[in-house]
Amino acid sequence: MTARRARQSAYSECPTCLDRILWAITAKGARQALNYQPDPAGNVAARHEANGGWRARSSPPGEPLVFPDKRFMPHWATSPRCAPARDGDGQRAAAQDVVAYLDEYRKEHTS
Ligand SMILES: [Zn+2]
Repeated sequence: MTARRARQSAYSECPTCLDRILWAITAKGARQALNYQPDPAGNVAARHEANGGWRARSSPPGEPLVFPDKRFMPHWATSPRCAPARDGDGQRAAAQDVVAYLDEYRKEHTS
């Protein structure tokens, strides 16, 4: 049942631009949206696992890949306007930006 759920969730549409994407799991366990079509210029190597999910790791373009890895481009790299639809990690990063901004604001207004 778990494998079936993973297979269904690995292929998806971007909620913002409706492009086809696939969800991969990074080494840190975070979900990462990749463009559906493999891209030789991408910086992510991903492989389709037996349970139907995709496992991703960062890989500099040009690095030789080991089968069955394929090279993908992160979706947000080619479609920045989709960034607000990122997963939890992206939302955390955005929250940190707000915190940094508030710190700056306080410094300016307390000195
Ligand atoms: Zn998109």
